[in-house]
Amino acid sequence: MQDETLLEDPENLAVKFVKASLPELESRELAKRFRATLLLATLKHAYTFSEYYRSVLPVSVLDGSFALENLPEIPLLTKESLCGHVTALRTSGNTGLLQYTTGTTGIPSSVYRSNLEISFLKQFYSSLQGILNGSTDNPSPLILTLANLYHGNVIDIPLNGYRISTGLFDPVLLNQIMYWLTTPHDIPGVENSISTITGLYQSVQWLTIMLIGKDFDFSKCKIKRIYSVGGFVTSRWKRLMETLWSAEIIPVYSLTEVFTHSNCCLLCGSYHFLPNVIPELICPVEQTPMTEGDGELVLTGLYPFIQGQPAIRFATRDLFHLTKNRCLYGDSFEYLGRVDHSLIFKMPDLPPVVIGSAVIHDILDNEPDVATFPFFDNLPGIYDNGTVGKPKYTMTRRVNSHGIDSVRFEIELQYNPLFYQEQARKLKKKILRKICQKVPSLNNAMKEGLVNIELVFRPPGFL
Ligand SMILES: [Zn+2]
Repeated sequence: MQDETLLEDPENLAVKFVKASLPELESRELAKRFRATLLLATLKHAYTFSEYYRSVLPVSVLDGSFALENLPEIPLLTKESLCGHVTALRTSGNTGLLQYTTGTTGIPSSVYRSNLEISFLKQFYSSLQGILNGSTDNPSPLILTLANLYHGNVIDIPLNGYRISTGLFDPVLLNQIMYWLTTPHDIPGVENSISTITGLYQSVQWLTIMLIGKDFDFSKCKIKRIYSVGGFVTSRWKRLMETLWSAEIIPVYSLTEVFTHSNCCLLCGSYHFLPNVIPELICPVEQTPMTEGDGELVLTGLYPFIQGQPAIRFATRDLFHLTKNRCLYGDSFEYLGRVDHSLIFKMPDLPPVVIGSAVIHDILDNEPDVATFPFFDNLPGIYDNGTVGKPKYTMTRRVNSHGIDSVRFEIELQYNPLFYQEQARKLKKKILRKICQKVPSLNNAMKEGLVNIELVFRPPGFL
C-alpha cells in the first residue's frame, strides 16, 4: 500500500521518517511503505529528467505499479558507469553544489546536488531537528567538528547541536582544540562543555595521537561520544579511544554518491540503513540478490533526498554480512571490507568464500609483532606513525599442479621470524585460530576438505 500524502511537504516526510526509524517492530513495516512510495517517485524522477536512466529503466516505471520487490530487475549502477556517464546521469543543469568522492583510487568522481535537492534537505533536516528537539528539554550538544576536506562542498544542513569547526593542520590549531576541549563555554541552550567529536576516522586518530604526543590530560575534557566517519575502525583502536577519551566511539558508514550515513548500532554492533535509502545485498561472484550472508552492498538513494544525480542500485564495492531479524532496528549489516582488497572465490556446492579485508586487518591490527605501513608520516606532530598504519600482508589463492587449492597469507613481522621461532610459532597458531573463527565461509570450505590455509611470516622489509 502506498502513502500518497508522503511527498506533500518536508515536515510530513520528517514525521514519517522518524516513525519509520524507531527500534520497534511496527516501524519496520512503516519503513517498507516509506521506501516503496519514495522508490516510485525516484524512478519517475530519474526516467523523466536523466538521459542515462531513460536508457536503462523500463517505461513501465512511469505507471506507478513498480513494487519494491522488483528492484533487482533494474541494472546495477557501477562506479565505472557513474564515472562514464557523469553528464547523462544528471537530471538537469541546475547544479547547486558539487561534491566528489575519492574512493580507494584517489581519483575524484563528481557528485552533483541540485538547488531543489539542497533546498529540500535544509527544510527536511530543520523539521527533523524540530521533532527530535521537541521531545527533550536537555541543552543541545556542543560539538567539535574536524573539517572534512576530502569530499568537496559541504551541504549546510541544520543538525542537532552547536558546532565548533576546526581542522588539524598546524600546531596553532592543535592548541586551539586543546583550549576548546578543556574550557567551559557559555552559549544559551547549549551544553557548557564539548561532549561530541565528529570527523573522518583518520582525523580522529590523528587528533588522538597528537594529544598523546602533547601529554594531554584526557580526564580534563568531557567527551561522551565520538563519531568516526568513513574508514574501518579496528577493535584495537576502538578500545584505545574509548579508554583514553572515556567516550563511546561510534563508527559511521557514509557514501557521498547515495547521500546516506549509518551509525554503528549500539545494540547489535552492526549498521542499519535509514529509510531514505534501500539497501540490498548481492552475491559478490554472481551478482544475484541475497537475503542473508556475505555479499556486496547495493544502495538506492531515494527522491527527494537525491535529485541532481540519481543513484539507483549503486554497487558500493563494500562487503557486508547481512543478518535478518537480529536487532530491533531491522536488518543488521556487519562491515567486512572493500571488494577490491578482499579475497572472494566460489567453491562447488557452497556459498562463496569471502575473506574480507577489514576482518583480516582487524585480526592483524591487534598484534604488535606485525609490521605496518607508515601512516601520517608526512604530518607534523606524529612521532610514531607505525602505530596507525595498516598491517603489511598479502592474501592469495593458489591451486597447485596436484589440484590442491589453498589460501596463502604472507605477513611481515617487526622481526625476523627465524630469530624468534617460539614467538612466531605461537603467533601463527593464534592468527590461524582467529581467521577460522572470523571467516566462517573459509572455515566451512576447509572442513569440507576443499581448501587449505597457509600462513607464512616474512622478515622486515620483505613485503
Ligand atoms: Zn542494531
